[in-house]
Amino acid sequence: MENPQNAESSAVESTKNGVENINIGSERSKDGAKQEKENAAGKQNKKAERLEKRRLAAAAAATAVEESDPLGGNYGDLPFEAVQSKEISGRIWTKVGSLTEEYKEKEVLIRGRAHTIRGVSNKMAFLLVREAGFTVQCVVAVAPEVVSKGMVKFATAISKESIIEVQGSVTVPDKPIKGASQQVEIKVQKVYCISKSVPTLPINLEDAARSEKEFERAKQTGEQLVSVGQDTRLNYRVLDLRTPANQGIFRLQSHVSMLFRQVLISEGFIEIHTPKLIAGASEGGSAVFRLEYKGQPACLAQSPQLHKQMAICADFGRVFEIGPVFRAEDSFTHRHLCEFTGLDLEMEIKEHYFEVLDIIDKLFVSIFDGLNEKCKKELDAIDQQYPFEPLKYLKKTLRLTFAEGVQILKDAGIEIDPLGDLNTETERKLGQLVREKYDTDFYILHRYPMAIRPFYTMPCVDDPLYSNSFDVFIRGEEIISGAQRVHDPELLTKRAKECGIDVNTISTYIDSFRWGAAPHGGAGVGLERVVMLFCALNNIRKTSLFPRDPQRLAP
Ligand code: ATP
Repeated sequence: MENPQNAESSAVESTKNGVENINIGSERSKDGAKQEKENAAGKQNKKAERLEKRRLAAAAAATAVEESDPLGGNYGDLPFEAVQSKEISGRIWTKVGSLTEEYKEKEVLIRGRAHTIRGVSNKMAFLLVREAGFTVQCVVAVAPEVVSKGMVKFATAISKESIIEVQGSVTVPDKPIKGASQQVEIKVQKVYCISKSVPTLPINLEDAARSEKEFERAKQTGEQLVSVGQDTRLNYRVLDLRTPANQGIFRLQSHVSMLFRQVLISEGFIEIHTPKLIAGASEGGSAVFRLEYKGQPACLAQSPQLHKQMAICADFGRVFEIGPVFRAEDSFTHRHLCEFTGLDLEMEIKEHYFEVLDIIDKLFVSIFDGLNEKCKKELDAIDQQYPFEPLKYLKKTLRLTFAEGVQILKDAGIEIDPLGDLNTETERKLGQLVREKYDTDFYILHRYPMAIRPFYTMPCVDDPLYSNSFDVFIRGEEIISGAQRVHDPELLTKRAKECGIDVNTISTYIDSFRWGAAPHGGAGVGLERVVMLFCALNNIRKTSLFPRDPQRLAP
């Protein structure tokens, strides 16, 4: 059977609006964008434009059912009231993603988007219907008493991305269906349009979903491919999010938070919700969003740190939170956002911060196992567009002290101040060296120098220059920061002052420790970073639904 993903339907809309780069190669290459634009506006697109114009003209002429068609009831634009909660018909819809050979010869009803539409003749058209990133090929072919030429005309004229409903019988072609995720076909009996998309989209979904491998191949062959730049994607995020890879990314993200919640609840944690409007300056520093709160200075919480510790002082024992975290930092990096989702936990400990590390070990090994087991389709969809090596992790997570990390770097000829911090580059390098030595992309580095940790971090008992703290890395980049906390109010006050914090602004926090406080520790995880690094994606904006960075506050 023919494949509807042909060159004819590609690129036209994308070249009109919104596409930043028209590249032969990766979307990251900005060089020569002008030249590439000219190239792409060449022959192929002219032909595509001509064909698209013809299709749109047909669409304008045939938006409604032809009155004279006796089979007119089998197709058309559904009136709005049909989906206005008028009645429940009892019909059963099948999910596109679940259509397999098991449905052979069965009648199905699906609802999805018109991904691509191609009229072959006045007797035949192909519709590729997409739902949640999965696609199925539907054939509208004239058949006595079922499909009329009018229906073919109607189907051909449907605008891309419209929501349509298709009813038909499932067939299994002999040859693989290229360009569709489902390897069955639907012989259409009825097709209705539920909601029309505008005919000209700012992003062509096929362009937005193009694989990095395709760009690599195009580089070799000189083929011209349209690439959609990051800013354009984010400007039209609702469309961009419809690609299979993005569908995979955010379904995977949902699994991470679900598993985080599940595992911690099974370990006796309770979910809490701390305030995001904070008096004073949160944990201090410049990276806070300030605002006025009914005449009082306030800010958005930089983390749930202080309140989750106060929940421990209130005897909740083990708590976690999944919520927004605000950072006004001017970081124009691939891994910093101004608003991200924090996965936080805090717990009483009996003796040692290793009790927190044990939980983190179990938690993340369970999350990774769960993703690999339950999200195969999603991981595959992401890998199709952004190929990546599966994460290597050990069943018992590797723990190295900061000093051991410094030594590994030193052995590789990189000198690090043993009381200083690691920069992004040395963290990455250490990640590579650890992978070579221990065969893991996921490890814990603990006993950090005291000087580079926040005021509430507990110093090491044997050397106050070091602290009972840790960071956790995936592929050489930080995903978690945590520590045992100071639960003694006097030491806490002293440390806050030493770090230049006005203790009056955190007096209620410090007071919480004056009424008896259990030793405790915890950690903060960045959800977007976990997903980004699990899939080895190159930018955190890819794993934030509607990212907020220093230059972006919309959509
Ligand atoms: P980094 O050193 O990478 O800037 P951090 O030390 O400021 O991170 P913490 O304040 O300890 O990070 O936050 C805990 C976790 O929250 C980090 O390990 C990371 O996963 C995530 N995180 C921190 N800042 C950001 C940010 N600006 N955007 C997205 N995620 C972040």
